[in-house]
Amino acid sequence: MKFHITTFGCQMNVHDSEWLARALEARGWEPAGEDEAQVYILNTCSVRDKPEQKVYSELGRVAAHLRRDPAVFAAVGGCVAQQVGRGFFDRFPHVRLVFGSDGIAGAPGALERIAQGRDDRVALLDFVNIYEERERPNERTVAVPETRQAFVNIMQGCDNFCAYCIVPYTRGRQKSRHPDAVVEECRALAASGVREITLLGQNVNSFGLDKGGAGVSFADLLRRVAAIDGLDRLRFTTSHPKDIAPEVIAAFGELPNLCPSLHLPLQSGSDAVLKAMRRRYDRTRYLSIVDALKAARPDIALTTDLIVGFPGETEADFRDTLEMVERVGYESSFSFKYSDRPGVAAVNMEPKVAPEEAGERLARLQSLQNSITRKCLKKLEGVRTDAFIEGLSRMQDDGPTWWKGRDPAGRIVNVPLAEGDGLMGMMIPVSIVEAKKHSLVGEKAGSPW
Ligand code: SF4
Repeated sequence: MKFHITTFGCQMNVHDSEWLARALEARGWEPAGEDEAQVYILNTCSVRDKPEQKVYSELGRVAAHLRRDPAVFAAVGGCVAQQVGRGFFDRFPHVRLVFGSDGIAGAPGALERIAQGRDDRVALLDFVNIYEERERPNERTVAVPETRQAFVNIMQGCDNFCAYCIVPYTRGRQKSRHPDAVVEECRALAASGVREITLLGQNVNSFGLDKGGAGVSFADLLRRVAAIDGLDRLRFTTSHPKDIAPEVIAAFGELPNLCPSLHLPLQSGSDAVLKAMRRRYDRTRYLSIVDALKAARPDIALTTDLIVGFPGETEADFRDTLEMVERVGYESSFSFKYSDRPGVAAVNMEPKVAPEEAGERLARLQSLQNSITRKCLKKLEGVRTDAFIEGLSRMQDDGPTWWKGRDPAGRIVNVPLAEGDGLMGMMIPVSIVEAKKHSLVGEKAGSPW
């Protein structure tokens, strides 16, 4: 069978889609372009604007392929699938499978049964109480990623119910994966040549606080994974500030392969707004974490998420956010204007901030962030570091080939190298020669390029 996956949304969804593709390939299925596929899989996200409408319009496009081959069918997974559920079957006869994020482990088997005519329609929408181990595609059928980087899921779902977020309703309650399974997957990846692993979860700092973690804390898990032979770089995302333990902060100073970068969502710099958002930390607590992180690892690069125009946010609240952004000195941030999403608590919160006002605040925030980003990058000129090569850079010219790498903190470093190929997944020592707006330019240390 030929399949095509379209993915919307976050890194967790991207990783889920990659796993699903590997599991189908291990069954002999082939990835294909949109015009040739027989099975269309949409992995959806509720965070986008008008998410249902976008999925409906994609399914409308897929229906056109039925004219080419009446056996064509579609599957819808992810957060919108969890919300709309069997409603997709009523509206789109060619949708034969819907699966939520807890149902994804059963999706490859269900797709196979449908393709073989053993099942007509399948809904995998139940939430489960424990992390269901996913099959690991046979290593002989699956190549090591050329970049030698991999993501490893350590948990599923979230218990936090932040007022603006749909995740606990669409991905269910928190379920930690068994730590032995995490370590075993990381070890197998490192043994097959992977040099950089990112541990993934909605809130990794609360790993182990449910019964699935077998009493192992996130700090303990980090230590076990960091000790794996051959693993040069270890990262994790996403961190909720309220749950970060002193032992995790200390790990940044103790584990040499734990990369000096942390994405620590602030969301707002105002205590009143943080309370309304139900974030359960305040400015003081957040700053104490930042100070401790900088003490443990002075070169740590901090990044964050920010929402402007949350219901009730005043100009003074917004200025508190600007002040925090300056005080922390984030290297970069993802910032968004608040907008109502059906099903979350903030929908009923008043007063709403006028869209023009929110837009104007967002522009001020992004302008401040751009100037901080420039200063942070400028400070790195002249520094020697290592770039882990991910692929060809977009900055090609008539000279040597430009490659895109990342330094230990995850910053993009474009570097010209005489070698035209074979560099993916290599660690190259570089000197930073120039800071651009959002990236760095390096040259191979000790070489004319
Ligand atoms: S911590 Fe808050 S924002 Fe993050 S997934 Fe959970 S509910 Fe959503």
